[in-house]
Amino acid sequence: MLGAFLEKPNQIRVKHLDKPEPKVGEVSIKLSKVGICGSDVHLFKGHRILDKPTIIGHEGLGYIDKIGEGVEDKKVGDRVVIEPNIPCRNCRYCMAGHGNICINKRVIGLNEAGAFAEYLTIPADFAWQVPDTISDEDAVCIEPTAVAVHALFSSKAKPGDTIAVIGLGAIGLLLTHLALCLGYRVFVTEPNQTKVKMVTDFGAVPIIPTGNAEQQAVILSKIWEENGVMAVFECAGVAQTASLATAAAPRGSEIVLLGLSTDLATFTPLKIAREGIHIVPSIIYDHPTDFRRTLQLIHSKIIQPSFIISQYANLADLQDALTLAAEGNESKIIINI
Ligand SMILES: [Zn+2]
Ligand SMILES: [Zn+2]
Repeated sequence: MLGAFLEKPNQIRVKHLDKPEPKVGEVSIKLSKVGICGSDVHLFKGHRILDKPTIIGHEGLGYIDKIGEGVEDKKVGDRVVIEPNIPCRNCRYCMAGHGNICINKRVIGLNEAGAFAEYLTIPADFAWQVPDTISDEDAVCIEPTAVAVHALFSSKAKPGDTIAVIGLGAIGLLLTHLALCLGYRVFVTEPNQTKVKMVTDFGAVPIIPTGNAEQQAVILSKIWEENGVMAVFECAGVAQTASLATAAAPRGSEIVLLGLSTDLATFTPLKIAREGIHIVPSIIYDHPTDFRRTLQLIHSKIIQPSFIISQYANLADLQDALTLAAEGNESKIIINI
């Protein structure tokens, strides 16, 4: 089979390798479509260094090719989407029901062979059968949509409430779409007008503050306060916007942190404490709840996540596709395997 290895930063090499065999409790999947994630781009650019050449990619859709021993609820030919973060179910975080922060987590496309390949193996319960009511295009967007589902449902804001989203990458777009479809009012802040347009079509209200960081915080704070914003979702993933969110969050609101910046952000303890602002972390999703919810939301036509797809490419062109993704103007590139 063919697999696309990240050999070193900025270098993908598509190589022949042996097809993996499913072990006990696993299935092997023949991949058909795989999305490029922001985290794949970070790996490609060398922001995080892998210790050996690795097949990256984790937003995978395909068909079951082979069933391992002991697997009873799956059959060859089933169309499945992979849930690529596999908690150990043994550590104290898993035991407390927080598999999303498991310390021994196996991650497809990071510490295990990923999805930019013709085949991969995965524990059977992390291969989710996709009903025929869901198109391939929506199905390949299920993994990032599960991130948005987890974040929105981590917040105390409910349908009918007003929220704000900073940053319209794939996750910000999906979160905004989900919230609008469920009846929230959503303010969005994002400099790229094409991305803003993708959600104003669904009813999002753009606020693009001008001036320096302090002036921007004053503008956002005033509009958010006046409109009763209950939760601010930081999806841009840079320290400046995390600082902006904490500076502008209205009294009594929540800041839900999804963006994964490694730089230091700032906040004023007096404001956070005195105004009763909660900072809520949101990382990936809980197994199995969030994938199940996501599949159901798409199946019942509440949401249609494929609107984020802006480009397709072939596995042989992954190097160029990752380079294009790194420029930041594409909302989602799908690789046809
Ligand atoms: Zn992803
Ligand atoms: Zn664990």
